[in-house]
Amino acid sequence: MTKFYSSLDEIKREIQAGGITVEGLVKNYLAQIKSNAHLNAFNEVFETEALANAKTVDARIKAGTAGRLAGMVIGIKDNICYKGHKVTASSKILDGFTSVYSSTIVERLLAEDAVIIGRCNCDEFAMGASNENSYYGPVKNAANTKRVAGGSSGGSAVAVQANLCHAAIGTDTGGSVRQPASFCGLVGLKPTYGSISRHGIIAYASSFDQVGPITRSVEDAALLLEVMAGADEYDSTLSQSPVPKYTGTLASDKSKKKIAYLQEAISSPGVDDEVKSAMVQYIDKLRAEGHTVKPIAFEYLDYIVPTYYILAMAEASSNLARYDGVHYGYRSPQATDLQSTYKRSRSEGFGKEVKRRIMLGTFVLSAGYYDAYYAKAQKVRRLIKEKTDSLLEEFDFILTPTAPEPAFPLGKKEKDPVVMYLYDIFTVQASLAGVPAISLPAGTNNEGLPLGVQLLTKRFAEQELLNFSKYFLTL
Ligand code: GLN
Repeated sequence: MTKFYSSLDEIKREIQAGGITVEGLVKNYLAQIKSNAHLNAFNEVFETEALANAKTVDARIKAGTAGRLAGMVIGIKDNICYKGHKVTASSKILDGFTSVYSSTIVERLLAEDAVIIGRCNCDEFAMGASNENSYYGPVKNAANTKRVAGGSSGGSAVAVQANLCHAAIGTDTGGSVRQPASFCGLVGLKPTYGSISRHGIIAYASSFDQVGPITRSVEDAALLLEVMAGADEYDSTLSQSPVPKYTGTLASDKSKKKIAYLQEAISSPGVDDEVKSAMVQYIDKLRAEGHTVKPIAFEYLDYIVPTYYILAMAEASSNLARYDGVHYGYRSPQATDLQSTYKRSRSEGFGKEVKRRIMLGTFVLSAGYYDAYYAKAQKVRRLIKEKTDSLLEEFDFILTPTAPEPAFPLGKKEKDPVVMYLYDIFTVQASLAGVPAISLPAGTNNEGLPLGVQLLTKRFAEQELLNFSKYFLTL
């Protein structure tokens, strides 16, 4: 059994003391991946390459020239391009496709000597909240293999949970880093929209998509954010400001804060009782420590999920138009002319949920319904953003559960898409508003399933979020 390291610092100390090498670490993770193949966390493991890269990093450590991530063995979600490697977004339609360039984040991670051990399973095109929408089958939660991993970055979360690698990278459009992190007892950070380059990330809904780390500690989340964030000429949505040294100033922040929590989170019948009691316990502890903690009623709560889904599906229908059986991956063997190439390749290549979203997205963008759905949802998004921003002027943080329930049984919500969509109730607010949010582990329920709570804060206030999270975990 590979040792669980809580942070890269711990690994680095052990490397310095001669207790382990990066190659040794990779060997251990590879063995762990093999013995946990049933979890289905990886779509592909880069075995030979990871071992070779580990040796190179060991040599750099010896020579004193290693980067900041030397010793960090990571998994990347299978929607992140890595030159010369396959990338599928867990879809049949990308079958056989190999990345012709690396995403900016992969380049930045490698430049700091991270070792990438493989690509992690996820919901097809990152559409889902349980990782059951993958062409490669569902990922299983290591705490209970009859339960879902969470989604869409379920493989990334389970890879860290089961110690198949030290940390993982996911993407979060409406909760896909935070929710699986909470189902697996980990830290999941969705930074401010405009923090991390999406160049080389397979697009789902471009006005929401963000990259985020899934880690065991706040320290590692801060470090990975610091390495990945910052301007990139290939992504014009990024902030041009220099990236703060999150790790340099990372310190448990005990100063007295003003914290709002959603009243519904502790009163709604839709929220699991143990999730509610975890929330109540944190609220009590925070008050006992002298923080101001107040309930709020978010007047647009009922509109959050529909607004998110109208916009995300509209954007997805446009982004996924490029998969036509001509440019990328799968082409139907039944295709006989251009029309049938498009039609058959897309019908056979996309899974059920992806097709549903393309159709709904196309519908809300169609001439007759554009104003009624898409334009209206844009207006509601503005209201949600403004209300969220004004709450975050009044309060330092908003505290919510990450999800209304812990990891649910595989197959339980698959049949009803609306039930599955409602599961995103707590995560999509930060996505609609573009503000940063972090999911923190909050113990387990009486069946041993991990619980998670979420903190939201102002745009680009990641430093405050990370420092307070470090303190929060000591409560
Ligand atoms: N569950 C949400 C959806 O299906 C969020 C997914 C994500 O963040 N990629 O759209």
